[in-house]
Amino acid sequence: MSKQWNIAVVGATGAVGSQMIECLEERDFPVGKISYLASARSAGQVLEFKGKPVVVEELTRNSFEGVDIALFSAGGDRSREFCPAAAAAGAVCIDNSSAWRMDPDVPLVVPEVNPQAIAGYGKKGIIANPNCSTIQMVVALKPLHDYATIRRIVVSTYQAVSGTGSKAIAELDRQVKGLLQGKSPDVSVYPHQIAFNCLPQIDSFEESGYTKEEMKMVNETRKIMAADIRITATAVRVPVFYGHSESVNIETEKKLTVAKARELLKKAPGVKLVDDPAKGRYPMPMDAAGQDLTLVGRIREDESIENGLNLWVVADNIRKGAATNAVQIAEILVGKYLK
Ligand code: NAP
Repeated sequence: MSKQWNIAVVGATGAVGSQMIECLEERDFPVGKISYLASARSAGQVLEFKGKPVVVEELTRNSFEGVDIALFSAGGDRSREFCPAAAAAGAVCIDNSSAWRMDPDVPLVVPEVNPQAIAGYGKKGIIANPNCSTIQMVVALKPLHDYATIRRIVVSTYQAVSGTGSKAIAELDRQVKGLLQGKSPDVSVYPHQIAFNCLPQIDSFEESGYTKEEMKMVNETRKIMAADIRITATAVRVPVFYGHSESVNIETEKKLTVAKARELLKKAPGVKLVDDPAKGRYPMPMDAAGQDLTLVGRIREDESIENGLNLWVVADNIRKGAATNAVQIAEILVGKYLK
């Protein structure tokens, strides 16, 4: 029998954590012992792994004895505090929060784009999973960049509420149902009502006027693609439950025709080309939700510049944008690096 690995899921009761558990099951990851960690509020709750009960334990510094891989999705503060403790106990951490992403000693990995970066995991014992919007954008852009060298990206996002976690999913659900019954909505997760609305604010504002989410897309894309691309982003929250959409405009060094972009994307790993506008076929969040591919369509030449292209890119933010990407990293880690 091939080797099995002891896994800890940190934030197991959350939107990303529960999807990570499902991904481990679906992909038949060689799991030995599994532990589920969350806050004291959830300690004692019974979840399952492959039909067997697993009791949720409170996350502490002593939670990582004998753990080979710790999948973190319990917020940046927990990652900052507990990843070093997990690494000191011998676990490799794969972290979904933004805590370690820009640390030069921590690889920031999208397996379809820069799997080779995983080799640097040993410096801190931590590998960072990028921001959900960044992941789907670089999966779509990598094959185009390899062919035509991207100089500049202008991206606007249309991000689902599941990107904020389980409380936001419940808030949209409650607001929609309440408003349809004529009740005034309770607003607690977002600064404004999200039902039947769009919020041009994701995370807090920096002095520059950009939000932290927008700057994550700028900085993380450059780190993952290892390229000095000029990027500007606008991140918008929309009343969609699952699936982030992005309007992406690129300027390339070499001419990239629509036909060539389609040919490259058709064979690109992790991408599904959905681009038949005459038949009304293009990527939509309802088609992206519940699967792992990044859907790309609406490919058009940007006629306002010499070498420009527009694309519409959609993926499941909880799966490819978080859980699946983390489990794919774990698969490479055990396949190539851990003994
Ligand atoms: P969520 O649904 O709110 O879940 C949060 C998880 O963290 C829960 O399991 C919660 O446990 C746990 N937690 C909270 N406080 C804790 C504490 N003091 N000690 C231990 N565990 C604690 O949020 P989420 O959407 O899954 O996001 C989790 C992380 O993944 C965040 O860092 C987020 O930025 C990142 N991420 C999310 C997405 C996405 O699309 N949602 C994408 C990429 C990255 P309790 O149930 O016990 O409170």
